[in-house]
Amino acid sequence: MASLFIDGKWASGTSGVTSQVINPFDQGLITEVDVADDVDVAQAILAARRTFDAGEWPGTSATERGALLNRVAELLQRDREEIARTETLNTGKAIREGRSDVDDVSAVFRYYAGLADKDAGRVVATGSATAISRIVYEPVGVCALISPWNYPLLQASWKVAPALAAGNTFVLKPAQVTPLTAIHLVRILAEAGLPQGVGNLLLGPGDRIGATLAESGEVDLVSFTGGGVAGRSIMRAAAGNVKKVALELGGKSPNIVFADADFETAVDYALTAAFLHSGQVCSAGCRAIVEDSIYDAFVAEVARRTELIRLGSGLDERTETGPLISAAHLAKVEGYVRIGQQEGARLVAGGSRPSDPELANGFFFRPTVFADCRREMRIVQEEIFGPVLTVEPFTTEDQAVALGNDTIYGLAGAVWTGDPGRGQRVAARLRHGTIWINDYHPYLPQAEWGGFKQSGIGRELGPTGLDEYREAKHIYQNIAPQPSRWFGS
Ligand code: NAD
Repeated sequence: MASLFIDGKWASGTSGVTSQVINPFDQGLITEVDVADDVDVAQAILAARRTFDAGEWPGTSATERGALLNRVAELLQRDREEIARTETLNTGKAIREGRSDVDDVSAVFRYYAGLADKDAGRVVATGSATAISRIVYEPVGVCALISPWNYPLLQASWKVAPALAAGNTFVLKPAQVTPLTAIHLVRILAEAGLPQGVGNLLLGPGDRIGATLAESGEVDLVSFTGGGVAGRSIMRAAAGNVKKVALELGGKSPNIVFADADFETAVDYALTAAFLHSGQVCSAGCRAIVEDSIYDAFVAEVARRTELIRLGSGLDERTETGPLISAAHLAKVEGYVRIGQQEGARLVAGGSRPSDPELANGFFFRPTVFADCRREMRIVQEEIFGPVLTVEPFTTEDQAVALGNDTIYGLAGAVWTGDPGRGQRVAARLRHGTIWINDYHPYLPQAEWGGFKQSGIGRELGPTGLDEYREAKHIYQNIAPQPSRWFGS
C-alpha cells in the first residue's frame, strides 16, 4: 500500500524505493514502506504551501478546527489496541506502554481541541478614545514536523495537534525506522475530515528529507524532536529564510534522593526513571544523585531490583521492558558500558546482553547500574539513551544542586525528600524544564514541556505549545483620522 500522503492522496515514492520496517524484538520484517525522493518532498511542500496560501484552512473557525481534533481523539481511541500493537511491534516497547501512549495522544488532541478557540487575542490600551488596538493570533504557515523513533506517535502528536489547532498546514517526517503509527495517524486525520493538502506525510532518511524541509524557503517553521547533532544542523539550515525553529533535544536528567525520602518508593521510581522503555526516553532519570548516609543501601537495593527486571517481547503482557531500537543503537550502548568500566565506575548490575536464547535475535541489553560514578565521567555527562543508570553520592543540599546542574542539558529532573520545603527549594534551583518532586515521568498536556540549555529551544504542550504555532499580529485602527501636520505645514 502506498505510504506517502501528499496533497490529500496516498502515493508511492516517485523513485519506487522502499525501506524495510524491522521488529527490534527478533529482527523480523514487519512491512516495507515507500521512501520519498526529492520530487515527492517538493510536491509535499508545494501542497502545504498552496493550501495555506489559499486561505481556506487558516480561515476556518477555531471552533471547527477544535471539533476536528476531538474527532481525531475519538478515532484514536477506536483504534487504540491496533495502534498500541503497531507501536509495540515497531519500537519493542511493552504493550501497556503502547496503550498508555495512545491514551496520552488522545488527551493531547482533546486538550488542543479545547484550547483552539479559547484565546482570540486581546484589546490593548491606546490612551486615546479614537483609536482601537488589538492583538490577534494567526497561524505561522507551513510547518515541517520532524519526529524521533522512541515515542513515534506521541512526539508527532505534540506537534500535529497544536499546528492544526492554530490553522497551519504541515509536512510530517517521522523517523525512518518507526513510520507505522504516523501512517495510521494521517489515515485518521483524513477520516476525521482534514481538508486536502493540510496534512502531508513523507517517509525516509532524515539527513536528506528532514534537511530539505529545514532548508526550504517555502517552509515557515520547523519543529524538531531528536538528537543534538541533527538539531544543530536544522538550526543552521533554517537560517536561510529565518524560519522559526523549535527544538526538543536530548537530556541527562538528574534524580536526586535525600536520606529523608521514603526509601522504598525512591528506589522503586529510580528504576522507572532509568529503565522505562529501556532508557530510550529523553527525560530518563539516568543519573541518580544520592545522599551519602543512604548511598550504600540505595545502590544495593537498586542493583538487586534491577536484576529482577523482566525483558521480553513487548507483546507479552508480563514484559517489563523490551529491546533497544536497532543494532547500531545497541552497539552505542555497549560502547558506553565499556567506557564506564574503563573510567573506573563500579558495575553493580547488568552490563551485558542477556543470555536467554529467546532474546538472542533482538537488540536486547540488560538494565545496567554503575555505582561510585564521578561528575567528570563520560557515562555521567553524555546522553547514552539506553538502560544505563549511574549513581553518585552527595553530602549537602548545595552539592546535590550543583551536581544536578552539572550538565550541558536541562530537560528534566527529580528530587526525593520527606521535607516539602526542601523539595520546593531544590526544584527552584535546578536548571531544567521539568522538575518532579517525589515522582518521576508524569507529564500533562496542560503543562509546558521543553529544555533549558542544550536540551532545546521552545516548548511543547500547554498554552506555550500552541503559541509556537501562532504569530501575534497587532492591528491598530484610528477611528477619527485627522491630518497630523507633522511635515510641511
Ligand atoms: P535523530 O536526531 O537521529 O532523528 C530525529 C528525527 O530527525 C528523525 O525523523 C530523523 O530522520 C530526522 N533527522 C536526522 N538527521 C536530520 C537532519 N540532518 N536534518 C533534519 N532531520 C534529520 O534522533 P533519534 O535518534 O530519532 O531520537 C533520539 C534523540 O531524540 C535523543 O537525543 C533524545 O533525547 C531526543 N528526544 C528528545 C525529546 C524531547 O522531548 N526533548 C523527546 C524524544 C527524543
